[in-house]
Amino acid sequence: MAVALLKWFDTRQRDDIAWRGERDPYAILVAEVMAQQTRVETAAPYHRRFMGRFPDVWTLADAEEDEVLGLWEGLGYYARARNLRRAARRVVSEYGGRIPRAVSELRTLPGVGPYTAGAVASVAFGLPEPAVDGNARRVLSRLGDLETASPSDLDRAARALLATVPERPGDVNQALMDLGSAVCTPRRPRCGACPLSSRCLALRRGTIGERPPRSRRARSPERVEAAAVVRRGRRVLVLRRPSDGLLGGLWDFPSVRLPSPTPPAPALTRVLREGFGLDCSVGEEIRVLRHAFSHFRLRLTVHQARWRSGEVTNPRPHRWIGRGEFGDLAFPAYLRRLVDEEISPRNAR
Ligand code: SF4
Repeated sequence: MAVALLKWFDTRQRDDIAWRGERDPYAILVAEVMAQQTRVETAAPYHRRFMGRFPDVWTLADAEEDEVLGLWEGLGYYARARNLRRAARRVVSEYGGRIPRAVSELRTLPGVGPYTAGAVASVAFGLPEPAVDGNARRVLSRLGDLETASPSDLDRAARALLATVPERPGDVNQALMDLGSAVCTPRRPRCGACPLSSRCLALRRGTIGERPPRSRRARSPERVEAAAVVRRGRRVLVLRRPSDGLLGGLWDFPSVRLPSPTPPAPALTRVLREGFGLDCSVGEEIRVLRHAFSHFRLRLTVHQARWRSGEVTNPRPHRWIGRGEFGDLAFPAYLRRLVDEEISPRNAR
């Protein structure tokens, strides 16, 4: 079965994936971490820029967190960037700058889970280790008509496939993922174009729609917040988020969580006074932003505010910055558009 899969894979090498054909374990680690929750087409230009700035594990280990986050801005899931930098430091300090080969060692690096470890071990080092992402999971569970598709079922199925072409484990893993993304799609798999259709149990038994089994997820709750763009003369107040939390290390504006429905302006006036030590007049609404996180949906109303008196007492690191400085700091993607369009238009710098 793996032979047919590889034959198909070899005819459709994708040139939109910057790291396809890459053998440098560091470049592969960066790529796999970037692609964890992001489509490869989206991640590809980020990978090019990242590798241009941090071409090896030493430069990344030496980098300031702000610069790493800046290059990651827009990719989301920023813990990945912070973990990657920490992993680089560990590789330098504990492995002399060489990415470890064994899955058991790779798994000890920050942010490296079973999928990433398997991908690096198989693609970079040619080891027969499974790398099962969502696409590969779908293909494997349909091929074997796996009712539960538990991690151990999938591991077993992937290892059996890898064992049939032991000389190309990285390609087998990538081919499975490619097949899932291009042919064995969630809703309408193109079984007529599938190189494995003659071996697919779910196709034979008519169970494709039930494989893999769906996990029922409740709609995530909505979190309502308000933020203030506080201006003091020509400068705007920005604060750095704590490194270990959501969007850690990125910059944003003073904000408050609102029990819905609460008018934002009075709540912002109060939090600016009590939480930040600033007397401000909160003015008109600039925009309402929405962003979906993995476990909640954010609805953020952003208001203008003008500083009247006081100095910032909030313990978070803060800066009063001018227009030209917004480009130097990393903001969450949902704020970046607001910054570029309303606060510091790029053509105004
Ligand atoms: S035959 Fe259809 S369901 Fe089975 S692996 Fe191929 S595309 Fe997926």
